[in-house]
Amino acid sequence: MATQRRREKAAETETAVEPIGAGKSEAHGYEFGGPIGTFILTFGLPFVCYAFVFLCNDVTGCPAPSLLSPSKLFAPPALSTQSPRQYALNTLKRETGWPGLGGLINAEAMLGTLAWYGLSLLLHVLLPAQEVEGTELATGLCAAGTFVLGPNFQLWTFINTHMVQLLTTNILFAYLLATYFYLRSFSVKRGNSTHRELAAGGHTGNIMYDFFIGRELNPRVTIPYVGEIDVKSFMELRPGMLGWIVLNLAYMAKQYKSYGYITDSMLIVNFTQALYVLDALYMESAILTTLDLTRDGFGFMLAFGDIPWLPFTYSLQARYLAVHPVILGPWYSLAIMAIGIAGYIIFRGSNNEKNVFRKNPDDPSVAHLEYIQTASGSKLLTSGWWGRARHINYLGDWLLSWSYSLPTLLSGYRLTNSILTPGSRLVTTDGMKGWAIPVTYFYLLYFAILLVHRERRDEEKCRKKYGRDWEEYVAKVPYRIIPGVY
Ligand code: NDP
Repeated sequence: MATQRRREKAAETETAVEPIGAGKSEAHGYEFGGPIGTFILTFGLPFVCYAFVFLCNDVTGCPAPSLLSPSKLFAPPALSTQSPRQYALNTLKRETGWPGLGGLINAEAMLGTLAWYGLSLLLHVLLPAQEVEGTELATGLCAAGTFVLGPNFQLWTFINTHMVQLLTTNILFAYLLATYFYLRSFSVKRGNSTHRELAAGGHTGNIMYDFFIGRELNPRVTIPYVGEIDVKSFMELRPGMLGWIVLNLAYMAKQYKSYGYITDSMLIVNFTQALYVLDALYMESAILTTLDLTRDGFGFMLAFGDIPWLPFTYSLQARYLAVHPVILGPWYSLAIMAIGIAGYIIFRGSNNEKNVFRKNPDDPSVAHLEYIQTASGSKLLTSGWWGRARHINYLGDWLLSWSYSLPTLLSGYRLTNSILTPGSRLVTTDGMKGWAIPVTYFYLLYFAILLVHRERRDEEKCRKKYGRDWEEYVAKVPYRIIPGVY
């Protein structure tokens, strides 16, 4: 039933975009730096994920201490037989806990990932429309396990001991999925009766570029006993988003196991990020009108973004706090929560306003708002949230991201062996304060770039679609994202 409903909605969405598979092809322009840019992203992004895991670690520090004194890194001791390069490499391997190439993956992590996707599919199938119940079921399991076993609940220890291998498995899975759907997209024929179509910008003929952007717009698969799955919306919301929360919880358990308490910073990070994810799941149908669903194909960009990138890089703050427990105190906590809640109000308020208005402009909550009636038939809001900036929803989203990073304050720590208690380690900030900012504030910066880039893409789409009506909107609402600033 849920699948049927999703299918109907997806079909509605499809009719709103140009049916390339069924009709004419259009001139395209490259995005993301064209074939060269997409090549770099496709093969470079996994290294970024690994860099975070190894350079910010729970072996010697975040960042690995030698990185702060590169001159020493290449200076082997007087009697050493190693070349400076060898010495640097060996030092880094030791400081990052490098497990060797073979250690990047193992059978347990593969089985664990398989089980996670199986569970996500099961929840997807078992639960009708209101998917938020699925979250309750999954968290119910985690809560029961944690209640009985505390931080020793096997799920948490499994994640914390196999994190690198889980990352590798998910990276490989993203390549596999992207390749499969790239190849399968060649079976989309013009005028097919099953609503299959190619993404407008994803079939340029350049293999590298199309592989990255995604050729087929909304691929679906039929899985025995599960039924039909819309791959893009499933991947976007389920394993990745929920995986993010599960990783965060595992890091919280790790903090508790190591220190015997959970810090306010860890609670804020878990709360604000869970709020964002649960909101996305609760408002599931709203993703059907997002750029990802209506415009991009399902290629490497979305496969990688949803599967390894989102859970493993969005959870960097909790991972950091698990090893370095920052205590904020009431004032910092309140200030950070205020930023997060303000962000959420803008984000949810603006997205809701547009959704309600687009569904029913006479709804009492939006009937008073001003709008432009465009020649294409759609209405563009010019007052309320959408009268303040043309993508005010991105501002809310970005403010929320501040509340994820700020709890780590001036991040950076060093781990040393304790002399007093052999076998235990001391975590200090000596000489490290601020050096982990590129890690724990990465999301904030990356997200700003993503949103600015996304806004430009959407602006271009709307300019093409609405022509003079869009010019009129821009004249009335001159700011793109931040009222009065940008
Ligand atoms: P938006 O929800 O911002 O929708 C943009 C579309 O809305 C436009 O293409 C246009 O579509 C319509 N529109 C534009 N202006 C108006 C107006 N004034 N009145 C009515 N309709 C208008 O799209 P996104 O998919 O980019 O974002 C959805 C949400 O997801 C955002 O809150 C964003 O921050 C979030 N997001 C989060 C990400 C993450 O990784 N955490 C990644 C990406 C997005 P039409 O053609 O129908 O007129």
